[in-house]
Amino acid sequence: MSLVTTRAVVLQTYRYSETSKILRLMTRELGPCSTLARGALRPKSRFGGLLEPFVEGEATFFTKEGRDLHTMSSFELVRDRRGLDQSIELFTIASVLCELVMRLAPEHPDTELYVTLTRGLDGLHGRVGGGEAAGGLEYVWGLVDALGFRPELERCVACRRRIGDESARFDFPAGGLRCPSCAPVGPRLSPDELETLRRLAAGSPASGGGAGPNQGLWLAEFIRHHLAEGARLRSLPFLSRLA
Ligand SMILES: [Zn+2]
Repeated sequence: MSLVTTRAVVLQTYRYSETSKILRLMTRELGPCSTLARGALRPKSRFGGLLEPFVEGEATFFTKEGRDLHTMSSFELVRDRRGLDQSIELFTIASVLCELVMRLAPEHPDTELYVTLTRGLDGLHGRVGGGEAAGGLEYVWGLVDALGFRPELERCVACRRRIGDESARFDFPAGGLRCPSCAPVGPRLSPDELETLRRLAAGSPASGGGAGPNQGLWLAEFIRHHLAEGARLRSLPFLSRLA
C-alpha cells in the first residue's frame, strides 16, 4: 500500500453506505481514479462537504497494487466551483465536461486533458452571475479536441472542396460540413451560424449576443456520433436543448 498526493477534480460522486461516498476523480498525476471517502456524509466529516462535482483539491489517498478503488485520506481545497449550479446553462456545460472526461479519458496521466478540463471549469465558474447567454460551448469543443476529435469545417467531407462562408450542411455521421452541391436538400447553416461554429470549435467564445439556438444541438450531435461510442451520456440531451 502506498500514499499518493495529486491535484484532482471531482467528476461525479455516488453514495456508498450510510456515511461514505465513492468519487470519480480526474487527477493530474494518475489520470482518472476512483476513491472511497469514508465518513464523507457525516455532518462533521473531515472532508467538510467539499467532495462535490467540479471541486478541485490536493487529494491524498492510499493505493493498493491491483485495486481500482483507492481510499481517500485527505482533500485540501484548491478551487471551489460549487456555485456553478446557480446557472442551468453553465451547470449543464460543466456536467458535459466532467462526463466526457469520466467516459473517455485514457487510463493514464494526461496533463493536457487535465488542464483543458480545469481551464473550462474555471471559465464557466467565472461567468456565474453574468446574466443571460452565458455561453461556454467553446470549452466543450476544446475538450473534444483534447480527446482527439475535431470536426472538418473547412472542406466538404464529400468532394473536399474548400467551403467559404456559403451555407453548408453539418453532416454529423461524416464529422463535418457538406457543400451546397453535395447536400442539395435538408437544413443548412447560415453564414453567421457557420462563423460561430468555427469560432467555438477553435476554442473561442461566440462573438456578440451568444452562440445562437442550434450550437448546443450540433455539438451534442457531433459528440453522439464520434465520442459517445454507443454509451449514452446523461448530460447530452440537456446540451442539445440549450438555447
Ligand atoms: Zn461537396
